[in-house]
Amino acid sequence: MPTAPGGESVTDIRGPVADGPVLVINAGSSSLKYQLVVAESGQSLATGLIERIGLADGSARHTVGGQDHVVEQEIPDHAAAFEVLNEQFAEHGPDLQSAGTVAVGHRVVHGGAQFASTVLIDDDVLATLRRLVPLAPLHNPGNIAGIETALQTFPDLPQVAVFDTAFHQSMPPAAYTYAVPLAWRQTFNIRHYGFHGTSHAYVSRRVADLLDRPLQDVNTVVLHLGNGASACAVEGGRSVDTSMGLSPLGGLVMGTRPGDLDPGLPAHLARVAGMTLPEFDHALNKESGLKALAGDSDFRQVMKRRHAGDDAAALAFDVVVHRLVRHLGALALVLGRLDAIAFTAGIGENSPELRAAVLERAGLLGVALDPAANESPDGETRISTPESVVAAFVVPTNEEWEIAREATRLLANH
Ligand code: AMP
Repeated sequence: MPTAPGGESVTDIRGPVADGPVLVINAGSSSLKYQLVVAESGQSLATGLIERIGLADGSARHTVGGQDHVVEQEIPDHAAAFEVLNEQFAEHGPDLQSAGTVAVGHRVVHGGAQFASTVLIDDDVLATLRRLVPLAPLHNPGNIAGIETALQTFPDLPQVAVFDTAFHQSMPPAAYTYAVPLAWRQTFNIRHYGFHGTSHAYVSRRVADLLDRPLQDVNTVVLHLGNGASACAVEGGRSVDTSMGLSPLGGLVMGTRPGDLDPGLPAHLARVAGMTLPEFDHALNKESGLKALAGDSDFRQVMKRRHAGDDAAALAFDVVVHRLVRHLGALALVLGRLDAIAFTAGIGENSPELRAAVLERAGLLGVALDPAANESPDGETRISTPESVVAAFVVPTNEEWEIAREATRLLANH
């Protein structure tokens, strides 16, 4: 039976997890994040971040045994980044081979409707991923570059793709269907997909363990609040609705993305401002959200400004909270019965103020906040009172562990 951080048993509805370290890769267009993580225990053996790929001033940090090893050099492309990764492991350990690495697990943002679960990567999978690029033009190309290079770097290791969208493929048609022309839906797979699936899967599983109840019996709304943010209704371990849709732009207010908008907006701006679609796309991906409201995409900075009396930052906070409350209420009704609300990711794990603002407005759902627990949570922490009908938790997410579990589960089933 796999074990969780506290050593207690972990419930899972997708079958057993095998053992062994997995090299988890999260490749973006100009960065490469990695972690060597033991699938069964979640133990992290090494982590690394290679940044500014393609620029003259690249940097790589490899952390093992609490020690950072930093290299600063030009890293022209993903192939060079993987060379640096290999050198870092060779110089500072652990040795990937003698550590018994069993697989490479790649985070892939968009799996479309084609991938409802983790897959072993082969030429067909890569070809499908390339066809899916228009669905996530900012994310999937970097993921694909990482996969292509990793296949050359580690030809003897099985490599799997774990999709941010796959967890949400369990949504029913009523939740994922957009009311748009049939031809759009049939020809271009226009529908609600959802993202952050590995995080929502991990956190909802941990919530069931924290409640000491089987995952199948627990209904949770997970609020993944980082630079990107999404809310997910998880019924018995399966996603039944989520705030992000076709792209990672929808739903909650994010660092530079606006979340929900009126669909009439692009045509309106084209009429009144002559705005082109590429301009609109850029503004929605890079210039909206907290950045548009408060001049900074970083939540910590926005909170500093708010405390200093900045009206724009105060409004930004209120908009973020309002949107969260709205989605939380909607997802609770979708579930029909709510057992828990879980906060995760950079903001969700670290901002007592935001959690309190949301939960104080969620009294209708039967949540009673424990202010002391909320103020200083320590890892996985219950932040609702014992009498609270709906429990509330802070659960630090661990997408790398979830990807490692997915990878070994797939290998065990093959
Ligand atoms: P993530 O994308 O999960 O890394 O989260 C990044 C976001 O978390 C940024 O907006 C940060 O400002 C925010 N964040 C990180 N630490 C804190 C903190 N201590 N208090 C408030 N926000 C934080």
